[in-house]
This record gives sequence, C-alpha cells and structure tokens, in this order.
Amino acid sequence: MKSLSKKFREGGEVIGLVPTMGYFHEGHLSLMRKARGECERVVVSLFVNPLQFGPQEDYHLYPRDEDRDAKLAEKEGVDILFIPSVSEMYPEGYATFVEVKRLTEGLCGRFRPGHFQGVTTVVLKLFNIVKPHKVYFGMKDYQQLKVIERMTRDLDLDIEIIPCPTIREADGLAMSSRNSYLSTEERKAATVIYRSLLEAKETYRKGETKAKVLKEIVGGILRGEPLVRRIDYVEIVHPETLEPLEEVGEEGAILAVALYIGKARLIDNILLREEV
Ligand code: AMP
Repeated sequence: MKSLSKKFREGGEVIGLVPTMGYFHEGHLSLMRKARGECERVVVSLFVNPLQFGPQEDYHLYPRDEDRDAKLAEKEGVDILFIPSVSEMYPEGYATFVEVKRLTEGLCGRFRPGHFQGVTTVVLKLFNIVKPHKVYFGMKDYQQLKVIERMTRDLDLDIEIIPCPTIREADGLAMSSRNSYLSTEERKAATVIYRSLLEAKETYRKGETKAKVLKEIVGGILRGEPLVRRIDYVEIVHPETLEPLEEVGEEGAILAVALYIGKARLIDNILLREEV
C-alpha cells in the first residue's frame, strides 16, 4: 500500500481515502462515490480495529464479508481495497497511541472509554500508510468526525477531511453494519430513534430552544419503545466544541443519541439549526 501511494503521489494523482470496518451498506458506498467523483485514486480501507472496541464490546461479533465487500467496492470504481491484518497494524511491541482530549470526553467517549483513542490511533496510521489528500467520513458518527478534524488540525496533517451526510433506510433508520444484529421485531422498533429526533427538531422549528425540553421529547419517545433496553445518552451539544448546551443558539446544535436495542448499540444525530 505504501509503495502504491508513493507511486500515485509521484504521478501527481489526488488520493482519496475512505476508512471503514467493512460489511458495506449504502452509507459506505455514498462515501466511495463522493471520493470517486473528486479523486484520481480511491482507496478504501477495511479494518475491524480491535483497539477501538472495549473488552465487553462486539469485536468478535462484528459482521464480516470481505468477498461481498470487494464486489461492492469494485462496482463503485474503487481502485484499491486495503485490508491490513491486525498483526501488521499492531505488531509485537506496539506501544504508541494518539489521544485527542476534550472532544472525546462527552457523548460516546463517556460510555466507551478508550474508543476514540483507538479510532485516532488507527486513522493516523492509515493516513501515514495511504498518504491521502482527502479523507471521507460520515456524519452519522458525528463525534468521530469532529475528533478526526481536530487531530488533523492539531497535528498539522496536510489532509482535507470531507464530511458526508447520513444515509438512511426508507423508514429513517441510519444505516449501520450493526443493524444486522437486529431481529425483525427489533429492526421495526429501531425506527423510534429517527422518529424521536425528528419530533424534537419539529418542536425546535416551532420555536422551542431549551435543550432540557427538546431532550425530554426524545427521551419520552424512546422510553415508550419497550425494545429500547438501555439509553446511554440523549444530548444537545455545540456542533464544533461538542460541549453540552442549555439553549440552542445561533450556531445551532447537534442532538445526539446512543442506545441499545437487542445486541446492537445504535447511535444517531440530527442538526438543529435555523435553515438559511
Ligand atoms: P464504519 O465501517 O461503521 O466504521 O463506517 C465507516 C465510515 O462510513 C465512517 O466514516 C462512517 O461515519 C461512515 N458511515 C457509516 N454509516 C453511515 C451512514 N449511514 N451514512 C453515512 N456514512 C456512514
């Protein structure tokens, strides 16, 4: 991969990278398509990164189908599907980790200690291996996007981070590889997530700006669904600092949730901002 990147760069080609954990869905494919439209070379990395999973989390359960993924990537015109092994990425004696402070403390960071350190470490390694000019991230993982933007700025990386909109199923559920954990009944119940976010957004549009009221709308709807077995958080945060807000101000806010249905920990978010 390193020698190919070197060759691409020497040929003056713009390299786009889409980092993934595989088991592709339309969300992943939308990132690949955007990269394909903007870059001469598109690299998709597929690596289920053990560092970003907690000891009690779903690393061993995480869905995998490399053959199907390879076909889908090829169909999108991806040049290289890069699938490193765990032992190549973290050989014996591996001891270096990247930590972004502050932005990683709230939201998912509070419930998944070490998760973002695992993400930033693997992403910086992928940047160094693939040497991309542009890297594509989904807004579904909003905190991840902001953490990577911060790391890129703080460490003076000459890389452009491109945010991409969340792709949803027809009924609103944000696409996720983890949706495959859901039974038919759980899958139906999962539509409650986006419904609750839309309801709060509608109330915000009608003039309600108090975070407490808007969060209560989401919490109330989520608690009304018996298959939601645990809510990690319902938060309203500043779109850049990710600090909790009491009031949705001029700069708008991100309304974000994380919860469990069955075996799946699901996250979603929506932007609250006056449309211009
Ligand atoms: P993952 O394989 O889940 O780690 O995701 C790889 C990339 O795809 C990340 O940048 C995610 O934010 C992005 N992604 C995942 N699901 C979606 C979605 N439903 N819409 C848009 N992007 C997504």
